[in-house]
Amino acid sequence: MNSVPGSFDTLTFDNRFTAELPADPVLENHCRQVPGALFSRVKPYKVNQPVLLAYSSDVMDILGLDQGYAASGEFTQIMAGNRLAKGMDPYASCYAGHQFGNWAGQLGDGRAINLGEILNSQGARWALQLKGAGPTPYSRQADGFAVLRSSVREFLCSEAMFHLGVPTTRALSLVTTGEAIPRDMFYDGNVKSEPGAVVCRVAPSFTRFGHFENLAAQHNLPLLKQFIDYTLRFDFPHLGAISNETIALWFTEVCERTAEMVAHWMRVGFVHGVMNTDNMAILGLTIDYGPYGWLDSYDPDWTPNTTDAQNKRYRYGNQPTVAHWNLLQLAQALAALTGEVEPMQAALDRYAEHFQACWTTMLSIKLGLENSSDKAHQTFLQGVPDLLQIAETDMTIFFRSLAQLPPVSDLSDEQLLEPLQDAYYAPEAITVEQRGRITGWLRTLIGLWKQSGMTDEARVKLMNAHNPKYVLRNYLAQQVIDKAEQGDYSMLHDLQSVLTNPYETQAGKSRFAEKRPDWARHRAGCSMLSCSS
Ligand code: AMP
Ligand code: MG
Repeated sequence: MNSVPGSFDTLTFDNRFTAELPADPVLENHCRQVPGALFSRVKPYKVNQPVLLAYSSDVMDILGLDQGYAASGEFTQIMAGNRLAKGMDPYASCYAGHQFGNWAGQLGDGRAINLGEILNSQGARWALQLKGAGPTPYSRQADGFAVLRSSVREFLCSEAMFHLGVPTTRALSLVTTGEAIPRDMFYDGNVKSEPGAVVCRVAPSFTRFGHFENLAAQHNLPLLKQFIDYTLRFDFPHLGAISNETIALWFTEVCERTAEMVAHWMRVGFVHGVMNTDNMAILGLTIDYGPYGWLDSYDPDWTPNTTDAQNKRYRYGNQPTVAHWNLLQLAQALAALTGEVEPMQAALDRYAEHFQACWTTMLSIKLGLENSSDKAHQTFLQGVPDLLQIAETDMTIFFRSLAQLPPVSDLSDEQLLEPLQDAYYAPEAITVEQRGRITGWLRTLIGLWKQSGMTDEARVKLMNAHNPKYVLRNYLAQQVIDKAEQGDYSMLHDLQSVLTNPYETQAGKSRFAEKRPDWARHRAGCSMLSCSS
């Protein structure tokens, strides 16, 4: 049979993961411990009635799929797991991890089924993975499926993050399966039937810190070495052949990439919500969009994850520290092989230094300033969190509006606050004293602009390119979900499209840039999410 041009069958599959690494010898699909292997072969579950809800034309292009192919039934069937294309070799990978600070042992792809890796026309390697495609040997007590609400959130957010310039896995497609999935959303005995869905995720690789932790915990040093060698060759080919030196260089790069990723999260106000080591990608990509959220009002102690409500380990302001802790767990796994602790410690120190450099650079740019190690500049940056908590302040609107401030020194308080009106949740409640602190800070900022070497035009351009107008606000995602559950996908498509251009003001789209409405303040899905998905 001839392949349709631009279809999956015309892509070049080159499945190195399954070709080079040891497989679980057991082929039955039941839950088990899988020692001494990196993956188990498993087929996606065949679903009842798949319907394609959305796809990313960008990712179609990257893979070399024809845009028109998305409308074919074949694309939907493959994206739902009902059909495999020529060259696909499906499997679930085996990893372990630390969850909420505790060793959790073997976890693995409990509901992710990898389809294989393609080499695109530029020679770039892209791995494809269906999330929610049914049980695997790693499903433990769960069912292997995913529901519409969490799949909409993963699909929209991973693409939104990419367009914001945040390192992330991508999403090719979102399909509903026609299956009914029982879920106890808040673990309170209230089980509801929800529509099943599958997202196809795409990334150069899906290797997690937990893959290495798993092999170190098994004291399987030959396999740990083999997998590091594999990772160096395919994910970090510029570093050279495996040795203690290249392992140290590699870990340093993982530290740097992780620092950059977290600095970007802080820049756009993203809270991952479940920064367990099994949810940390070795490539420094944001992975596993679960109970994540976006800061509406700036609050460093906020976490969207109700499962973490007590300790708030994964709160916004703690993310840089947690990433460091996660890297330490990875360092320990790698040191099991190299026996050298010092280079690992040096890389961990490098993380802290690099995070600080990335973050202060990004924050400076958000404010329209050049970063410098100058003490006065650094002190000014350190004052920003306090400024944002004087009154309840919408982080996204505040930063975006700063560029509209006229760069002149003799503005009245009213003139200074005018562009920032929308950033405050209760402007009428701001006291004279609070107002004085805010306007004082704004006057200092304008003074710094005047001292800087940047022209006003260049500064405004720079600020607008780093302070998004549109982010995936929690309440917007929930509205999309409410509509999608009623069969209305118009807002899904509209928001998806707006979020491909988050730094450009788009005509007629102001409703996607509005601060959280009052009804959403305490509504489930808008400010509180559980791990149930
Ligand atoms: P997460 O908190 O989403 O990172 O998931 C932690 C572990 O639980 C991973 O091994 C997941 O694959 C697994 N998991 C989460 N949800 C499900 C599910 N519905 N079915 C099977 N495994 C799941
Ligand atoms: Mg996970």
